[in-house]
Amino acid sequence: MKAVKVFCPGTIANVSCGFDVLGLCLDSVGDEMIVRKSDVPGIRITKIEGADLPLETKKNVAGVAALAMLKEITFEGGFDIEIYKKIKAGSGIGSSAASAAGAVYGINALLGNPFTNAKLVEFAMQGEALASGAPHADNVAPALMGGCTLVRSYTPLDVIALPTPSELYATVVHPQIEVKTADSRAILKHNVTLKKAIQQWGNVGGFVSGLFLNDYDLISRSLEDVIVEPIRSVLIPYFKTVKVATKNAGALGSGISGSGPSIFALSKGADTAHKVADAIHDIYKNSEIKFDIHISKVNPKGCKVLPL
Ligand code: ADP
Repeated sequence: MKAVKVFCPGTIANVSCGFDVLGLCLDSVGDEMIVRKSDVPGIRITKIEGADLPLETKKNVAGVAALAMLKEITFEGGFDIEIYKKIKAGSGIGSSAASAAGAVYGINALLGNPFTNAKLVEFAMQGEALASGAPHADNVAPALMGGCTLVRSYTPLDVIALPTPSELYATVVHPQIEVKTADSRAILKHNVTLKKAIQQWGNVGGFVSGLFLNDYDLISRSLEDVIVEPIRSVLIPYFKTVKVATKNAGALGSGISGSGPSIFALSKGADTAHKVADAIHDIYKNSEIKFDIHISKVNPKGCKVLPL
């Protein structure tokens, strides 16, 4: 195989209670990428459509992730990468992660899959370090492994693939305001009270148990973030209104997607996910803010090869 086309899915990081550890993969939102083997050593980004992002290998997360992978393989040639962006950068649905994951997934496919998806997470994280300053895995893990993932530990890296209840849907609204990841990290407090920590780890355990037990009520009760959401949500217009309206429309719960400004809601079944989308639409349609709404089943597979 000389070239491969890859679907690079969007992802929801944090999923309310699991700041920096939980993530979930989307199905209907994602970029595409074409990766080609070349006789010329090294990694080149040859084309980017759909976004104004750097072509320079070391300034693009796809290039940085691919370079991290190249260091660990003996391959005399190199790879050329074309990126077709559909996920807006800085939207909070894993735009940078999609590129980092897609690049290493594509190269792995061209080499006959020498690495497991879990190992690919380590390479893709190096790309994430470029985008946000820290090599976090809560977007690249679900992008590569699919479904819901838990980063149990960063040192050493220990990523757990969690089961995905078959009727779990996400509705995501991206209000097109700019929230820099650096800013939304900077406003966070570095200490939490023991009382809040207890609530939060109870919810993480509850959410994970809900996935294993297929218990949507338990998932719903656990979709609560007492640590980060109260601070970050002030940066997102209509956040509280959306939270109330999505719950009234039948959602299991809602929260900030990644570092925002996107807001996600989880629902049981496509019908409810659509009703939730209508409720969100009603809130933003009369505002000045441009917005996109995505409805997506949770994607159990992650990145995948598309016909070229
Ligand atoms: P998101 O949460 O939507 O992924 P991030 O803030 O994590 O947004 O990442 C976006 C940042 O990463 C932007 O500063 C963007 O310029 C940078 N970046 C570099 N390469 C890429 C790429 N291939 N795709 C998306 N963003 C990239």
